[in-house]
Amino acid sequence: MVQEKVIICPICEKVLDDEESERPRIEPTGNKRIICDNCYWEKYMEICVICENSIDHNDQTHIVLPGGDDRGLSPGVYQILGFPYYLTDCLGSFEVIPERVKFISNVPNRWQVESGGYVCSECRKKAGAI
Ligand SMILES: [Zn+2]
Ligand SMILES: [Zn+2]
Repeated sequence: MVQEKVIICPICEKVLDDEESERPRIEPTGNKRIICDNCYWEKYMEICVICENSIDHNDQTHIVLPGGDDRGLSPGVYQILGFPYYLTDCLGSFEVIPERVKFISNVPNRWQVESGGYVCSECRKKAGAI
């Protein structure tokens, strides 16, 4: 008898289905374990605040802060220099650590953004803010 290889997601302990086992998602950081699609999405995918497409972990390199930041950062597009680059508290407030980001450009006029977040490489290219 051939035993099918069963992969269990180490985060939620779900058994990966056939599709997930065939093209497994690997944690991009940490232990690089194989995890299920759900956990991957929850932990590692972000949504671009401009085009609302998903951004893969490798492309999570730039953020936009349309209103700047309480700690003295001016409004603009910032490159992330290191993780973690922000602090959160139990109330859900979010503070960028100024030493961990680098100012790249002003917020392009055509971007109608109200709250900060990740910006994908496509949007940055289109706006000339790379
Ligand atoms: Zn999982
Ligand atoms: Zn985008």
